Amino acid sequence: MIELYNPAEISAMRPAGAFVASVLAALRDAAAVGVNLLELDALAESMIAERGATSCYVDYHPSFGAMPFGKVLCTSVNDAVLHGLPYDYALADGDLLSVDFACSVDGWVADAATSVVVGSADPVDLALISTTEHALAAGIAAAQVGNKLGDIGSAIGEVARAAGLSINLQFGGHGVGRTMHGDPHVPNDGRPGRGLPLRAGLVIAIEPWFMHGTDQIFTDPDGWTLRSADGSRGAHSEHTIAITEDGPLVLTAP
Ligand code: MG
Repeated sequence: MIELYNPAEISAMRPAGAFVASVLAALRDAAAVGVNLLELDALAESMIAERGATSCYVDYHPSFGAMPFGKVLCTSVNDAVLHGLPYDYALADGDLLSVDFACSVDGWVADAATSVVVGSADPVDLALISTTEHALAAGIAAAQVGNKLGDIGSAIGEVARAAGLSINLQFGGHGVGRTMHGDPHVPNDGRPGRGLPLRAGLVIAIEPWFMHGTDQIFTDPDGWTLRSADGSRGAHSEHTIAITEDGPLVLTAP
């Protein structure tokens, strides 16, 4: 079921969005050569506790998960592209790290992701990150009352194709509200003018993620982490946005 939220409810989501943005900013600052993924998870966990927020991940146990996630953060490094389960790994020079974080504050969820290279960066990796960021911006720009859901996907897909990247459609954006994952599914490709009409009050996470060399993935033996089929690196950018009569409102803006 697709829920629409009134302006007061959307205002009430702002603290969750601001908090998620602050956690991602802290993680970007903390991510450095030698820093362990478990330290990043612990940092997010301490910020959650201090804020009195609730993790959306720690007890997350969907049908495809072998067990509850158990951590508060997704850390996907290099060929790990989505849903990376933090483990005992110290970041190395040139690693491409994507962090995805969702929690609820005052009962409202926000969800966002960002990618960064630690240490000396390969320009090819920076270009991949930049493509996901541009695709996210294009998707947000298309999230206008009167447009259709396909306009968002189309805008994202165009940016990917212009960069020579193919798109995996198994995972994409989603409705956000009292829970992390709601309707509608927001694919990272689509046909302009097609699909669900976008109305004021729709709150969605838009989250383009692309890999250098493939659109195929497989699940790591840890049961969660999704890796590129060919070992190529991935990047991921995500914001939670509200569609309003005044245009898209980025709730997780830094
Ligand atoms: Mg997310």
